[in-house]
Amino acid sequence: MHEYSLVEALVTRVEAEARKRGALAVHRLSVRVGELSGVDPELFQTAYETFRAGTLCADVPLTLTRVAASWSCPRCKTPIARGAILRCPACDAPGKLDDGSDALTLDRIEMEVP
Ligand SMILES: [Zn+2]
Repeated sequence: MHEYSLVEALVTRVEAEARKRGALAVHRLSVRVGELSGVDPELFQTAYETFRAGTLCADVPLTLTRVAASWSCPRCKTPIARGAILRCPACDAPGKLDDGSDALTLDRIEMEVP
């Protein structure tokens, strides 16, 4: 399943960050899931609960934040309304998908560093 490989990558990255900083413990993870990322937040959470056993993240709660897809004008930054034609209402430039709308982003790792 797609979500399992993403969780595996996430946990690997958290372990690498924790090792790099000599963290004593990791307390919380925050991940942002873009609406168009193709990631199902429930499946991702379930995959995390399953995969984290035996890893550094075994007792670490995961907070998932859903990010709704949004578009705006790359030229004048005018936001483009949801469901509207994907062109800027002000200058007619083609709209651009905003950052995070189609991505899974590791937002924050709370860790205890000596
Ligand atoms: Zn514009």
